[in-house]
Amino acid sequence: MTQRPPIPAPPHKGGCLCGGVRFQLDARPIAANACHCSACKKLTGATNLLMIGGARDAFSHDGSVQRYRRRADSGREVDIARCATCGVRMWHEPLTAPALVFISAGTLDDPSWVVPASHIWVEKVSPGVLFQDDAIRIEGQPTQREVLFEAFARLYPL
Ligand SMILES: [Zn+2]
Ligand SMILES: [Zn+2]
Repeated sequence: MTQRPPIPAPPHKGGCLCGGVRFQLDARPIAANACHCSACKKLTGATNLLMIGGARDAFSHDGSVQRYRRRADSGREVDIARCATCGVRMWHEPLTAPALVFISAGTLDDPSWVVPASHIWVEKVSPGVLFQDDAIRIEGQPTQREVLFEAFARLYPL
């Protein structure tokens, strides 16, 4: 059985390495998703991107941020926010879903509770990655993000 620590109460605070940017999500997350696509490998410098999704109107930040707009093969665009000083990538904002923000879990002050409820682009997974037995696995990008939210809600009932 997958160990899933309880979700701490909001706000979920985090920031970059140098301390120049701080952010917080003052709401319960709605997704915990790991992306194994080639772009996320490059953009994180790691083998996958573990992120939590939340409501953008509950999200705020302080400090100087640089945004990089990436256009995926699907045509979807996202703005990726990094610290302007140390370059740490902290979150991204999908242009097609302006109500959402996806925070890179490793930039949370407390990432200890984040366990993926979903994995996407699983056909690109690096061999060192373990899948949780209760997490859903999707090849490529889901056409509807709701499947990620449903997977999360099933594993983290209110
Ligand atoms: Zn920084
Ligand atoms: Zn990706």
